[in-house]
Amino acid sequence: MIPQGYELSLCGLCREPILWTVTDAGRRLAVNPKPAPTGNTACYRVGPRAWKSRALHGVEALPRQPWEDVFMPHVATCARANPVPAELPAVMPSNVVRLDLARQRRAVKGACRDATR
Ligand SMILES: [Zn+2]
Repeated sequence: MIPQGYELSLCGLCREPILWTVTDAGRRLAVNPKPAPTGNTACYRVGPRAWKSRALHGVEALPRQPWEDVFMPHVATCARANPVPAELPAVMPSNVVRLDLARQRRAVKGACRDATR
Protein backbone atom coordinates (compact mmCIF):
# COMPACT_ATOMS: atom_id res chain seq x y z
CA MET A 1 0.00 0.00 0.00
CA ILE A 2 1.32 3.42 -0.92
CA PRO A 3 0.45 6.50 1.12
CA GLN A 4 -1.62 9.19 -0.57
CA GLY A 5 -0.30 12.71 -0.91
CA TYR A 6 -2.68 14.06 1.74
CA GLU A 7 -1.20 11.64 4.28
CA LEU A 8 2.31 13.04 3.95
CA SER A 9 4.02 15.70 6.04
CA LEU A 10 7.26 17.58 5.49
CA CYS A 11 10.40 16.76 7.43
CA GLY A 12 11.16 19.61 9.80
CA LEU A 13 14.86 19.46 8.93
CA CYS A 14 15.13 18.83 5.17
CA ARG A 15 11.55 19.63 4.03
CA GLU A 16 11.27 16.33 2.12
CA PRO A 17 7.90 14.52 2.28
CA ILE A 18 7.58 11.93 5.07
CA LEU A 19 4.90 9.58 6.33
CA TRP A 20 4.30 9.55 10.07
CA THR A 21 3.66 6.09 11.50
CA VAL A 22 3.18 4.71 15.01
CA THR A 23 5.35 1.79 16.11
CA ASP A 24 4.24 -1.21 18.14
CA ALA A 25 5.73 0.59 21.15
CA GLY A 26 3.48 3.60 20.51
CA ARG A 27 6.32 5.85 19.33
CA ARG A 28 6.05 8.06 16.26
CA LEU A 29 8.37 7.08 13.40
CA ALA A 30 8.73 9.02 10.16
CA VAL A 31 9.42 6.92 7.05
CA ASN A 32 10.11 7.90 3.46
CA PRO A 33 6.81 7.91 1.53
CA LYS A 34 7.82 5.45 -1.19
CA PRO A 35 8.23 1.73 -0.39
CA ALA A 36 11.91 0.76 -0.47
CA PRO A 37 13.15 -2.83 -0.81
CA THR A 38 16.24 -1.88 1.22
CA GLY A 39 14.13 -0.54 4.10
CA ASN A 40 13.81 -2.28 7.45
CA THR A 41 10.37 -1.12 8.55
CA ALA A 42 7.07 -2.77 7.63
CA CYS A 43 4.15 -0.35 7.45
CA TYR A 44 0.42 -0.69 6.89
CA ARG A 45 -2.58 1.61 7.06
CA VAL A 46 -4.89 1.10 10.04
CA GLY A 47 -7.32 3.93 9.35
CA PRO A 48 -7.71 7.27 7.66
CA ARG A 49 -4.29 8.95 7.85
CA ALA A 50 -3.15 6.37 10.41
CA TRP A 51 -0.24 4.03 9.71
CA LYS A 52 1.40 1.45 11.92
CA SER A 53 5.03 0.41 11.58
CA ARG A 54 7.24 -2.31 12.98
CA ALA A 55 10.90 -3.19 12.63
CA LEU A 56 11.78 -6.16 10.43
CA HIS A 57 15.34 -6.62 11.69
CA GLY A 58 14.74 -7.80 15.26
CA VAL A 59 15.45 -11.36 16.36
CA GLU A 60 11.77 -12.02 17.01
CA ALA A 61 10.47 -9.96 14.07
CA LEU A 62 7.97 -11.73 11.84
CA PRO A 63 8.61 -11.64 8.09
CA ARG A 64 6.76 -9.07 6.02
CA GLN A 65 3.04 -9.80 5.88
CA PRO A 66 0.99 -9.53 2.67
CA TRP A 67 -0.76 -6.36 3.87
CA GLU A 68 2.52 -4.61 4.72
CA ASP A 69 4.97 -2.68 2.57
CA VAL A 70 8.62 -2.12 3.43
CA PHE A 71 9.72 1.47 3.97
CA MET A 72 12.94 3.22 4.93
CA PRO A 73 12.93 5.23 8.17
CA HIS A 74 13.41 8.85 7.14
CA VAL A 75 16.15 9.45 9.69
CA ALA A 76 18.35 7.00 7.75
CA THR A 77 18.27 9.15 4.62
CA CYS A 78 17.51 12.66 5.89
CA ALA A 79 20.14 14.99 4.46
CA ARG A 80 19.98 17.28 7.49
CA ALA A 81 20.02 14.53 10.12
CA ASN A 82 23.09 12.98 8.46
CA PRO A 83 25.25 15.87 7.25
CA VAL A 84 28.16 14.82 5.06
CA PRO A 85 31.36 15.67 6.97
CA ALA A 86 33.59 18.05 5.10
CA GLU A 87 36.61 16.28 3.68
CA LEU A 88 39.92 17.59 4.96
CA PRO A 89 42.81 17.73 2.52
CA ALA A 90 45.41 15.02 3.16
CA VAL A 91 48.17 17.60 3.56
CA MET A 92 47.19 20.77 5.39
CA PRO A 93 48.78 24.07 4.39
CA SER A 94 51.58 25.02 6.79
CA ASN A 95 49.63 27.98 8.19
CA VAL A 96 46.61 25.85 9.20
CA VAL A 97 46.35 24.30 12.67
CA ARG A 98 44.14 21.22 13.18
CA LEU A 99 42.05 22.37 16.14
CA ASP A 100 39.98 19.17 16.15
CA LEU A 101 43.01 17.10 17.21
CA ALA A 102 43.92 19.55 19.97
CA ARG A 103 40.33 19.50 21.21
CA GLN A 104 40.31 15.67 21.25
CA ARG A 105 43.56 15.65 23.30
CA ARG A 106 42.12 18.24 25.68
CA ALA A 107 38.93 16.18 26.08
CA VAL A 108 40.94 13.04 26.91
CA LYS A 109 43.05 14.98 29.44
CA GLY A 110 39.89 16.37 30.99
CA ALA A 111 38.36 12.91 31.27
CA CYS A 112 41.53 11.61 32.98
CA ARG A 113 41.58 14.57 35.34
CA ASP A 114 37.92 14.04 36.21
CA ALA A 115 38.54 10.32 36.82
CA THR A 116 41.30 11.03 39.37
CA ARG A 117 39.23 13.44 41.44
ZN1 LIG B 1 14.57 15.06 6.66
